[in-house]
Amino acid sequence: MKITDLVKQSSKPFISIEIIPPRKGVKLETMFAELEALMRHKPAFMSVTSHAHEWSIEKVDGRDVERMKHKRLDTNAICIAAQARFGVEPTPHIICRGFTKDETEDVLLTLNFHGIENILALRGDGPPTRGGSADAFANERAADLVEQIQLMNQGVYLDPIENADKTDFCIGVAGYPEKHFEAPDMKTDLANLHRKVHAGAHFIITQMFFDNEAFYRFRDEASKIGINVPIIPGIKPLYKREHLDVLPKIFHIKIPQTVRDSIERFSNPDDVYKASIEASVAQCKDLLAHGVPGIHFYSMSVAKPTSDVLKGIKS
Ligand code: FAD
Repeated sequence: MKITDLVKQSSKPFISIEIIPPRKGVKLETMFAELEALMRHKPAFMSVTSHAHEWSIEKVDGRDVERMKHKRLDTNAICIAAQARFGVEPTPHIICRGFTKDETEDVLLTLNFHGIENILALRGDGPPTRGGSADAFANERAADLVEQIQLMNQGVYLDPIENADKTDFCIGVAGYPEKHFEAPDMKTDLANLHRKVHAGAHFIITQMFFDNEAFYRFRDEASKIGINVPIIPGIKPLYKREHLDVLPKIFHIKIPQTVRDSIERFSNPDDVYKASIEASVAQCKDLLAHGVPGIHFYSMSVAKPTSDVLKGIKS
């Protein structure tokens, strides 16, 4: 089912989950064991992150050889396997960086073939380019990727494909309640978000945030400039003291002092865990009281913290 239909049809806010593919060499059953614990909460959809390949030129037998390495298992294969096993609605992340438009079209056609209806379209955080002539035929920004998918939804492919059906993807994009780190200011970033919606995005999932007031401001400002698609808040359950330092650095977000204080007063990992989960539960309860359509949990494929937050919300 399309995420936009899920939003329309849900009588109460849904939950959804984001996972990160396991590293290469992990077996399907190992991944499924962790997913099973998350699937018990009946997520409306499960999104799976995607990671740019690493390209290098290496000498093999005295010759320069182009090598492509991937540390994680394939996003799209995981989506197809999880859909078959759990009946969950998968939402693969598709990134621009490191992929030509041809490669993107092939992947989208394969996903369409498997009945996958939702896509999260992102620029990606990998290296800016893959090098060589391939970059000349890659999408530069998420809005370009949205445009490519929308053309496919109209039956327009890069080269004509005889008797090809139109795809019918529901497209999500990323939004940043605290601004994307490259944007000069919030106004510009919102205008760029508007471009993605104008290009045909149907819903927005936000970057993680810990200050709900920033999210409410972002939602209001987006609505003022005519962004009227559903905005789904992305929440990362905290569960370690290190998160307080690491998450702001990686994701360019702030953790409010009140949240820090509630966690930093403990040193024992069990107490830190309990206080962190309590902080996430309080954040989610506040969002639910402010009319969000659902909450998207950045589980990072670790089931317990997200499960504990969900139990806390229900209690
Ligand atoms: P864009 O929308 O292209 O924006 C990137 C920057 O360009 C912004 O600063 C924007 O303001 C600016 N911009 C946009 N259009 C213009 C324009 N016309 N002129 C000038 N500036 C412009 N990364 C991964 O690698 N894999 C993942 O699976 C992944 N999943 C994610 C899921 C979510 C929900 C979120 C929030 C992020 C995810 N990311 C992922 C991270 C994301 O790829 C990065 O944040 C990336 O830096 C930006 O991606 P974007 O799609 O928002 O880019």
